[in-house]
Amino acid sequence: MTQGSTLRGTAPSAEFDALIIGAGFSGLYQLFCLRDRLGLTARVLEAGDGVGGTWYWNRYPGARCDSESHSYCYTFSKELLEEWEWSERYPEQPEIMRYLNHVTDRFDLRRDIRFGTRVTTARFDEAANRWTVETEAGERYSATYLITAVGCLSSTNIPKIQGLDDFKGEWYHTGLWPHDGVDFTGKRVGQIGTGSTGIQAVPVIAETAKHLTVFQRTANYSIPAHNAPLKPEFKRYVKENHPAIRALMHSTANGHPFAIEDRSAHDLTPEQREAVYEAAWAKGGLQFRASFRDLLVDKAANDTAADFLKRKIREIVKDPQTAAKLSDIDHPFATKRPPIDSNYFDTYNRPNVSLVDVRAAPIERVTPTGIVTRDGATYDLDVIVFATGFDAMTGPLLSIDIAGRDGRSLKDVWSAGPRTYLGLQVAGFPNLFTVTGPGSPSVLCNMPVAIEQHVEWITDCIAHLRAGGVKRIEASADAADRWVDEVNAAANATLLPLANHSWYLGANVPGKPRVFMPYAGGMARYRGICNDVAAKGYEGFVLSR
Ligand code: NAP
Repeated sequence: MTQGSTLRGTAPSAEFDALIIGAGFSGLYQLFCLRDRLGLTARVLEAGDGVGGTWYWNRYPGARCDSESHSYCYTFSKELLEEWEWSERYPEQPEIMRYLNHVTDRFDLRRDIRFGTRVTTARFDEAANRWTVETEAGERYSATYLITAVGCLSSTNIPKIQGLDDFKGEWYHTGLWPHDGVDFTGKRVGQIGTGSTGIQAVPVIAETAKHLTVFQRTANYSIPAHNAPLKPEFKRYVKENHPAIRALMHSTANGHPFAIEDRSAHDLTPEQREAVYEAAWAKGGLQFRASFRDLLVDKAANDTAADFLKRKIREIVKDPQTAAKLSDIDHPFATKRPPIDSNYFDTYNRPNVSLVDVRAAPIERVTPTGIVTRDGATYDLDVIVFATGFDAMTGPLLSIDIAGRDGRSLKDVWSAGPRTYLGLQVAGFPNLFTVTGPGSPSVLCNMPVAIEQHVEWITDCIAHLRAGGVKRIEASADAADRWVDEVNAAANATLLPLANHSWYLGANVPGKPRVFMPYAGGMARYRGICNDVAAKGYEGFVLSR
């Protein structure tokens, strides 16, 4: 085991009750709760120059949320719900940024956020029961509680492709997109990756690029978003019904404002099932997945949806070879996070768009002028777009050098994959809370719902500690072991592990341990478990005075 390195700085640390890393959805709400509800001194440290977290960095063409706007927001403030009005069914990145900036200013959060401040190390001092963190600039901060609000999808995954450094054109990762945009006009663009991000970017890039070559490794399902401006009657419905919408989101497995239908795909005749899928396709969005209760647990049920969606691709895409590559999908529907799109498949009917199958012939190298694949084919390019995803869930945490009790580093403790209790704490790391950490529903849920639940649970926990004079809380190793078993069991009860190349399993990052990271037992169930743990005096945690 490596001991955590010592802190570099000698400067005295600024002292707070709580330090929060990250000013996205999680960090902003955590600051509000600790400062304005509990009266604690708290400071948010944020690497970016503004709030927004993942939305601050992901400014790629077509960036838009896949959760419907009326559900992709905070629900803790009635006034906020009443005054904010979304303009479209799925909010675009700039609108989400406007929303988060509005929240920041409305609750006067900015004064307690330090921007342009990347945390590099965090150390727990056992004698003082305090965390000290150091930033890239060598500043030091210390606090009783350290809360990571670093997001699940914020460490970019840029494949190490030989020759990239010599590429004479421009290249970008979608998760670190230039703030002033990229002009594709008249350019030959190559895009690697066809996940949720790539599927959103393709139609927009194709509009201005001279030619767009899409490098596809794994073909993907996608459901039309049917994005549109929200109608006045829907806006009125949302304003008048937000308590009911919130209650619905809290009752469902995925935190979306729609329930999964309580019927099996096998209950219907093929014609009836087809009609259900046609209606879901016409409605669009992630709700397609909720058409039957057994789509994620019964392979034969799932096949009915998969067959329907593959047929749709072949109907839309005119060139039979391209259609065959796009519909040659090797995993059950929704076992990878299902993208939703605006004209993705249709874009392949444009004369300036072509598809390359890099499963058949992987990318061999980047040359100064383009990409070469293993079959010897060359693609001349002016711009390469990496829509290659993230080192999800553990990446953002492990990019900080965190050491807990006895100087044990988180990297060592997680060398075989993440181990947490409820995704909230790691044994050996007292007073450290991980908002939407691995082992929580997080990415399998509509994120703001998962975030509000975690932030509120952490806030209540800290209030409990302070009321009882408890100096230290730490997940017990036994409780964490049992929870890891529970997370594995929950995943294995579904078809999710069948997508053996999914980022849920860490399989997209070479060398990353293959462990199913999010809790797949459903958000509503998880909320109940967390409430129960708290009601039993924080069962599974060791509290010391
Ligand atoms: P992703 O789902 O991990 O997709 C990355 C893509 O890049 C995949 O097609 C992957 O192929 C490909 N790829 C990676 N390395 C490659 C390599 N060396 N050679 C060729 N292809 C390679 O990442 P993402 O699309 O950014 O999405 C990540 C998650 O972010 C989503 O699942 C979703 O949860 C979230 N997201 C949400 C929204 C939204 O709400 N609007 C939008 C975008 C993203 P393989 O499949 O073969 O690995």
